[in-house]
Amino acid sequence: MYDCSKGQLLKMNILVINCGSSSIKYQLFCMETKQALANGTAERIGSREAFIVYKKGNRSYKLESELTDYFLAIEKISELLLNPESGVIKHKDEIVAVGHRVVHGGEEFKNSVVIDKYVLKRIKFYSKLAPLHNPPAYNGIKAAMRIFPKIKQVAVFDTAFHQTMPQEAFVYGLPFDLYKKYSIRRYGFHGTSHRYVSDEAAKILKKPLDSLKLITCHLGNGCSISAVKYGSSVDTSMGFTPLEGLIMGTRCGDIDPALIGYLMREEKMTIHQMEELLNRKSGLLGISGKSNDMRDLLVLAQKGNKRAALAIDVFIYRVKKYIGAYIAVMNGVDAIVLTAGIGENVLMIKERLEQELNNVLSHKTKILLIHTDEEKLIALDTFDLINGVISSSK
Ligand code: ADP
Repeated sequence: MYDCSKGQLLKMNILVINCGSSSIKYQLFCMETKQALANGTAERIGSREAFIVYKKGNRSYKLESELTDYFLAIEKISELLLNPESGVIKHKDEIVAVGHRVVHGGEEFKNSVVIDKYVLKRIKFYSKLAPLHNPPAYNGIKAAMRIFPKIKQVAVFDTAFHQTMPQEAFVYGLPFDLYKKYSIRRYGFHGTSHRYVSDEAAKILKKPLDSLKLITCHLGNGCSISAVKYGSSVDTSMGFTPLEGLIMGTRCGDIDPALIGYLMREEKMTIHQMEELLNRKSGLLGISGKSNDMRDLLVLAQKGNKRAALAIDVFIYRVKKYIGAYIAVMNGVDAIVLTAGIGENVLMIKERLEQELNNVLSHKTKILLIHTDEEKLIALDTFDLINGVISSSK
């Protein structure tokens, strides 16, 4: 099989970068084999304890490193990839493009795009809708542009896939002027994952994607569920922010919005404290009082811990409820996909859905466990864009 790491053919690798608030996940993909040559994370960027994890094959290296900003972190990643001993490429120009995960593209970006000055400006602009996520992506892009000045940078948006949602699915029951004034509407997230597993489901089912009604459940630390009709997202559980919808590790998902004012008055909480409660102290952690990690809860429930068992039950119930809603939305379903850390690994969820929905699902409806690979889809989009296979349109 062709192996990019041996360098028979230059200029076929794509670097994928996913910048968080203090970390960067990276992967270098060989586009001939569509496999990752190396991957890892740079963590605690900006602190004295910064380090980089670099993985190649079965080997993993952890290096403490002074990473004061994104520029130094990406420069270090590039050095590791080029390292004569542990690296996977010999020359920098073996990287032909960089694909960036960007969380928010507003209503403007319905597809992935090659980044130019205008796109960069708009990514910064949409920081107002994703204040924790877009600024690091913007900084990562700026840094990558300096480190790889000759090659194209591509943005792949989490929100893009859901831009096909009809108005009835994305408009909130709020004064319509607020939508116009502040762009308040439902956007949805995890779009790259929902799109990737939809494509994979069609391959597994050996049917064209545009003939299928799918419900894709991304159940990781963050959780969301989408109704994907004939290849397009027609509804999804996350909304204006990633707080809406399913119960998550530490996020509450759907609640009665009146609770916010009530609790703030009763507990004399500030807005910041309230946001902390909803985002970081709720969900599986909040209900169990023990952990946000499903693995811990499964062990605790097994040992008889009632609150851990309740957290799992509430989690699965909410997933089931959304599946029911999306069957109604699409007037049917051909397959349900479970993906991400919880979806792919906790078989009990699949078994319970099969049992509890057996009168709703036809015998032909399959529940599939599919491994998600957002980075791979970012690499594929980047490759297609730089080769003109898809156009850089909004
Ligand atoms: P992220 O959304 O951060 O990418 P992941 O997709 O890795 O997160 O999902 C994290 C969640 O998946 C955690 O709740 C973790 O407990 C759960 N998880 C991961 N592996 C397993 C496993 N083997 N069994 C049960 N739960 C798992």
